[in-house]
Amino acid sequence: MNFTLPEDLREMQAAVRGFMLEVVEARAREIEDTNRVPPELLRGAAELGLFGLSIPEEYGGVGLGALGRCAVYEALGQGHMGFGGVISAHASIGTSGLVRLGTEEQKRRFLPRMASGECIAGFAITEPSSGSDAANIRTRAERRGDVYVLNGTKHYISNAPVAGLLTVIAVTDPARGTRGMSAFLVEPGRTPGVTIGKIDEKMGQKGSLSAEVIFEDAEVPAANLLGPEHLGYREALGILTNGRVGIAARATGAMQRLLDLSVAHAKTREQFGQPIAEFQAVQFMLAEMEVAIQTSRLLWQKVAWMVDEGQDVRRMASVAKLYATEMLSQVADKAVQVAGGMGYMKDSPVERYYRDQRLLRIYEGTSEIQKLIIARDLLA
Ligand SMILES: Cc1cc2nc3c(=O)[nH]c(=O)nc-3n(C[C@H](O)[C@H](O)[C@H](O)COP(=O)(O)OP(=O)(O)OC[C@H]3O[C@@H](n4cnc5c(N)ncnc54)[C@H](O)[C@@H]3O)c2cc1C
Repeated sequence: MNFTLPEDLREMQAAVRGFMLEVVEARAREIEDTNRVPPELLRGAAELGLFGLSIPEEYGGVGLGALGRCAVYEALGQGHMGFGGVISAHASIGTSGLVRLGTEEQKRRFLPRMASGECIAGFAITEPSSGSDAANIRTRAERRGDVYVLNGTKHYISNAPVAGLLTVIAVTDPARGTRGMSAFLVEPGRTPGVTIGKIDEKMGQKGSLSAEVIFEDAEVPAANLLGPEHLGYREALGILTNGRVGIAARATGAMQRLLDLSVAHAKTREQFGQPIAEFQAVQFMLAEMEVAIQTSRLLWQKVAWMVDEGQDVRRMASVAKLYATEMLSQVADKAVQVAGGMGYMKDSPVERYYRDQRLLRIYEGTSEIQKLIIARDLLA
């Protein structure tokens, strides 16, 4: 086994880490105060290729495999998590359905603009009455001639307020149950009958905007059907499985940043006439953080490798997401503890991470749902 990433990937990882730590972090307070990502940061991300991570080169993207993407996501995790949220909702769940299932015509129509960051993407399955129980969505898509008419409401949809394209999952044949779902490419601003609700007021991840998406007799061209009609719940959720590995990688990056901040603080903060790093209680917290990082990194690396090998990762993607995000919550808590009162102050990145990281245990399947997936697979 060789754990060394290829040189070009290491270079890209270093460039993204540098951008996150030096450019994005310098504007973090502004993002927090305005709940907006400054456009120049999005342009910087586009120049680094972040919007086209998973888009093949022939459509203007960087065309990375899962290992490459996750290496970049880990670097992304080392800076403002709201900014990282915008990129990852676009580059993973917002893009992967189209790359995997799209026709040549659909790819040519959307992917180049998505790769350049001109068209930001998102993915919409969750509804007010079906979150974890996503198999019970009610949004209906009825074929009428050369359009599908969509009715229903999605909520908590990341990037919806800024999205040029959403992959929307809707029921095309209720009689078929979970096999009666289809995916659609919906352009919110260009589709009469699609309304984006007010921006959600969230605990953290400022700048990553989510909202309701309401469909009222919205006519989506039949040419925008993504994949076969009645694609089914399993296939639709395959889009999320891909995202889960990326979340594990982002969580690992966030833990690394929290450890780096904690080590630096422990070495310089003095109490009782010595750096707090001299106290074994503090050393143990740092050691536990390091163990969480190393194990989470091995997990995402393994799962990403499995994806690139074409293996079924449903169980292992859940293992990686569950473990890395649960560990991240513990690491964030320890980082606040090492920082002391400073870790509770708004000016501290540790305080921000403490809020921002909490979402990772909820979206793209809660921790409990990951456990269900793992257990069902074990018992099958
Ligand atoms: C900021 C944010 C951004 C999001 N972005 C998107 C997006 O871009 N696209 C999208 O489609 N969705 C998105 N979501 C939705 C997200 O995926 C859901 O919130 C999540 O799946 C949980 O659903 P829920 O909120 O309805 O919680 P519920 O399903 O109501 O769960 C509540 C609690 O019950 C537990 N629970 C539920 N069922 C079971 C069970 N069978 N066994 C054990 N415990 C169970 C859950 O684990 C949880 O602890 C986003 C959510 C948030 C908060």
